[in-house]
Amino acid sequence: MTVSNSRFLPHLPQEILAAKQLEGIRWSVKQAMNSPQYRLKFEKCGLSSSEDIQTFEDVRKLPFTDVSDLREGYPFPLLCVPAHDVVRIHASSGTTGKRKVLAYTQKDVDMFAYQMARCYEMAGITSEDRVQIAVGYGLWTAGVGFQFGCEKLGAMAVPVGPGNMDIQMQLLEDMQTTCLCATASMALLLSEEVERHKLRDKLALRKIIFGSEPHSLKMRRTFTENLGLEASYDIAGMTEMYGPGTGINCEAQEGIHYWADLFYIEIVDPVTLEPVPDGEVGEMVVTSLCKEAVPLIRYRTHDISRIIPEPCSCGRDIPRHGHIRGRSDDMIIFRGVNIYPGQISDVLHVVPEVGGEYHIDLTRKNGLDYMDLLVERDPACSSDIDAMVSLNIAEQLHKKILARINVRIVNPGELPRTFSKSKRVTDHRFEE
Ligand code: ZN
Repeated sequence: MTVSNSRFLPHLPQEILAAKQLEGIRWSVKQAMNSPQYRLKFEKCGLSSSEDIQTFEDVRKLPFTDVSDLREGYPFPLLCVPAHDVVRIHASSGTTGKRKVLAYTQKDVDMFAYQMARCYEMAGITSEDRVQIAVGYGLWTAGVGFQFGCEKLGAMAVPVGPGNMDIQMQLLEDMQTTCLCATASMALLLSEEVERHKLRDKLALRKIIFGSEPHSLKMRRTFTENLGLEASYDIAGMTEMYGPGTGINCEAQEGIHYWADLFYIEIVDPVTLEPVPDGEVGEMVVTSLCKEAVPLIRYRTHDISRIIPEPCSCGRDIPRHGHIRGRSDDMIIFRGVNIYPGQISDVLHVVPEVGGEYHIDLTRKNGLDYMDLLVERDPACSSDIDAMVSLNIAEQLHKKILARINVRIVNPGELPRTFSKSKRVTDHRFEE
């Protein structure tokens, strides 16, 4: 396929990229030294100059930063520019403690729009498109990010914000919206609404860009089919790295191309914080390469993913990471193996005889750990094949995550519905 005529998408051949990334890391360390908070962290690990960073090995000498560093410096954590250079702030929700507030300079705001414009271009959006933005505005980065990126690209923005199905439906029809930006669950809801009102033929919707929450492949397939879309695109992002748009999947749908000229990713074991071998699953740690107001130095995202080392079949030389497979806080250590619930979901997804709901029971007998995985039978299947199906799942789990797990099939609807780990996993191992 042709990848020329790109206005925003970069070419990132490895030999040029590595030098560019190291230069960006040095610049960011130098910039970070403007913050007393960062300076203290650097002093503690004996770093006195950005010139100490000459190789990617050297990067590992840098201290990690975490969400606690952002909370500590509230309301302007890790700020590295004078306050009069800040042109905007954004904040993410404060579900645990204070909000994370991030400051932006004019250049940061421009880069944010630029990273979003790249995402639209990757999704094949052009100035002919009409983009309905159904995500949150305000302190959130989402709405403004999708909008400024859309305007930078030159498409028509229809800024609606989240919710309000009646207005969404009306604008989809009247504006002849071609691309919708929403969460996966909102896209699903909307697709059901379109079905119910038999509106599909009156709409011009071709694409959905969705993100920011866990979704199943089944959910994605449902709204893509219901709406008769050409394609849907999973967009990655986080407030700490401007907002949405740090990466997006291409038409090949084989992982997420990310902007390796704007940030550097390391994948580490969330317990030891040592790098994992290339291509293996672990926690994503990011270092920004040109953020001015709040550069990120080895920021622990707690998102679980992996680098995909192989080149993408689309032919672009933009590096890729896998889809986010959950949070490192949800990791289970079982017989010395790190297991993420997302990996279990992945295995269950390709077994048609079971649904996507599961529950994990961890126990310890005579010093040895045991894991029981409870999975619901698909309503269309007979319990006669339970034994065969559970054996099949156990084998696949063993192959994928190298752990012996005892699989039990239960009746459809028997397990509680939840997204949270606390309810999916019962750990009896440390009970007296
Ligand atoms: Zn690709």
